[in-house]
Amino acid sequence: MDEPVRQATQGREEAVASLADRLPEPLRPLARIAYNYRWSWLPGGHDLFARLDPDRWQRIDRNPVRALIEATPASLAEAAADDAYVAEVERIATALAEDLARPATEIERVGPDAPIAYLCAEFGIHPSLPIYSGGLGVLAGDICKEASDLALPFVGVGLFYRRGYFHQRVNLAGWQQEYWTEVDPDLLPAAPVLTADGTPLEVSVPVWDRSVTLRVWRVDVGRVALFLLDSDVAGNDPADRWITARLYDANRDVRLAQYTVLGLGAIRALRAIGIEPGLVHLNEGHGALSVLELATAGADGDHGAGTDLASAVAASRDRVVFTTHTPVAAGNETYEPWRVVTVLEQLPRRFGTDQKALLSLGRVDPDEHESEAGMTPLALRAARHVNAVSRRHGEVARGMWAPLFGTPPEDTPIGHVTNGVHLPTWMAPSVRALLDRHLGEDWTRRADDRATWEPVLDIPDAELWEARRAARRRLIDYVKNRIATDRLARGEDIAYAQRAVRALDPDALTLGFARRVASYKRLYLLRHDVERALALLDGPSPVQLMFAGKAHPADDGAKGILQSMFDLRGASHVADRIVFLEDYGMTSGSMLTGGCDVWLNVPRPPLEASGTSGMKSALSGGLNLSVADGWWDEAYDGTNGWTISGEPDHDHAAQDARHANELYELLERRVLPLWNQRDADGVPVGWCRMVKASLVTVGPTFSATRMMRDYVAQVYTG
Ligand SMILES: *Cc1c(COP(=O)(O)O)cnc(C)c1O
Repeated sequence: MDEPVRQATQGREEAVASLADRLPEPLRPLARIAYNYRWSWLPGGHDLFARLDPDRWQRIDRNPVRALIEATPASLAEAAADDAYVAEVERIATALAEDLARPATEIERVGPDAPIAYLCAEFGIHPSLPIYSGGLGVLAGDICKEASDLALPFVGVGLFYRRGYFHQRVNLAGWQQEYWTEVDPDLLPAAPVLTADGTPLEVSVPVWDRSVTLRVWRVDVGRVALFLLDSDVAGNDPADRWITARLYDANRDVRLAQYTVLGLGAIRALRAIGIEPGLVHLNEGHGALSVLELATAGADGDHGAGTDLASAVAASRDRVVFTTHTPVAAGNETYEPWRVVTVLEQLPRRFGTDQKALLSLGRVDPDEHESEAGMTPLALRAARHVNAVSRRHGEVARGMWAPLFGTPPEDTPIGHVTNGVHLPTWMAPSVRALLDRHLGEDWTRRADDRATWEPVLDIPDAELWEARRAARRRLIDYVKNRIATDRLARGEDIAYAQRAVRALDPDALTLGFARRVASYKRLYLLRHDVERALALLDGPSPVQLMFAGKAHPADDGAKGILQSMFDLRGASHVADRIVFLEDYGMTSGSMLTGGCDVWLNVPRPPLEASGTSGMKSALSGGLNLSVADGWWDEAYDGTNGWTISGEPDHDHAAQDARHANELYELLERRVLPLWNQRDADGVPVGWCRMVKASLVTVGPTFSATRMMRDYVAQVYTG
């Protein structure tokens, strides 16, 4: 099979062969399908695995390798005897092979052996690969999938966190508690990269006063190889084996060691595999040390002796681009000088320089010798192109980093590529089926063209409404299945556990709010005026609210906000229609964005860099009610949703009161009346008009297809 990245496939081939050996002959192609996440966005891919054992499929986070390993012989035999199923296996295996065989898109500077190397601390590819925490990772996952769809020469590099990000449980007092689970790599669609003699490839990186050995895992995401670095290797110092254990570990030394492993390790691993990156795309600054490694001659050659740091950065510059995601300076992590010096002890010597020179690269003002240093200033200095993730975020970022560049804000060299979302991943199935019927063959390949979406305006309202009802029903079924267990596990009484199951209505207006619980996201605005909020839920036509989100483990303020939402439990009978879904992740996220009718977002402007969950909602026919910040500032046009003013205000209390009032007023005077305006068949005609306006405006502009074409045109080749 001719593949975009031919290197490093031997381990995967062995894994595929050994999985295939367990399967009845007609089902053997399933093994290859399982080892490439392309199935997750091929029509029919999900059903292929779900069919074997639907209940288990959900319980194992839809992990296809586990689904096949753990399937009972009886269910495999039954599937193997089903001609239609076997034909479907063959169809999907062929679709995968054809996708992999497409020639790569040609772009300047890069090619299959010198691809774009996309470095990120987290990747949200699929719920079964828990190495992501939220928006940054999910964006990275969407970018890999779209890069595959566009046949770009592209590889991802990240870390293999066996314990991933924390899981959330909320106790009876409404207080968040965290716990971690460990994955077994042998049960994941990941395979070790092997050397020619069949042993695991190992590379080493200098961390602290020693050398840490890394192994490399390969995960296939369509045509894109995602390489994950793993320090949990026998022979490493036991503390070093922990480096890649947890995403965003609470220990600052460990985090700095992680970014050292990611930055230096990424380039060393790629070179060991035989890949010299044509371009390094830093998604956030975590992997910024890669620019130093890039300047050296290669894994076996001269390690940069004689190249001073400034020359190293200058030499790499032409091959580095950087995307910043953080609209507050404090959000860009910095470290005390002594800590940097300890973790990166060996680095300056390789460049014939001292720690001061290294620290200077990580400071906004290189001459301020007492100040902390971080990866973002290094990335800003080292990249030939820097971009923010929405138009407004571009303005904020230029103002924020003007001091580093020594330019007036308007001349600061930071552009923007507004985020987008991978349409086949995030669109609710019923809405996808609707658009497949109306937008013509292969329409997703033309998703960034306005003309593609125009036929949406002619879809009969009743048909659109049926698709929306199906999407909402899917969410409600999912929530009903989870909610009683969530509540009983927390120690609630049975009556309360059952009440939401009864109160939830698949035809009620469903409001959604799901995102990281951080103070600036202002979840508390929803309960700013409790009486008014409960009255809204208790009107002539019922309204229900679904919310979800994790607070940072060390952020007691955010945990307090979450707890205050739980205080509403006993407030009134309508509180039964307020549902909190524990442990927000890609599965609950896609259910919520797919099924909710109104997607609420009330960040404190201008702190929302972009936001992407609202795009996912819009693509499934949901409507956004959001503060005019991040992407929504670009998207709102007066017909496609509702907006709350986005002006900054130093008086936070006054701004909160004003925005809460705007939120309630919009819900009372605009959202509910429009929802209740029905024709003789019960179809909300004005609502459907707004959904169509939202689809035709958000669809072409906020798809990952548009985003990646912008990256190619403005960043990779610009
Ligand atoms: C899309 C997504 C996000 C990012 O959404 P925001 O709007 O930026 O909050 C975070 N987490 C998950 C699980 C997602 O799917």
